[in-house]
Amino acid sequence: MPARQCPFCGKSVSNVHRQCPYCRETLPEVPNVHAAQPQWSNAQAHRKVRQGMLYMLLAGLIYYFVGGYGSPFQLPVAFQPIVSQFLIPLLFLAGIGLALYGYYMKKSHA
Ligand SMILES: [Zn+2]
Repeated sequence: MPARQCPFCGKSVSNVHRQCPYCRETLPEVPNVHAAQPQWSNAQAHRKVRQGMLYMLLAGLIYYFVGGYGSPFQLPVAFQPIVSQFLIPLLFLAGIGLALYGYYMKKSHA
């Protein structure tokens, strides 16, 4: 049985008591950890979704120019194949993950 200390007399009291059996003072409520609300707000969730969308858009934009599709506007530097084959898809997937996480945050908060 979990016990706590009475804030008035200092003796150890069981959690089930609402009143101290020694000094008869009313004990304050024990905060319920399981009923705690999530720590994020709706605005934070919206920000995460927006960030995820931005990363996806950025990945698409980088892929467009690195892949040589922006024909009149060629980039003056050559990129390693790892950039277009691994890093840009990774950025895109990270953006999807962040957007889904933000969406999940929004849904679980409501
Ligand atoms: Zn007491």
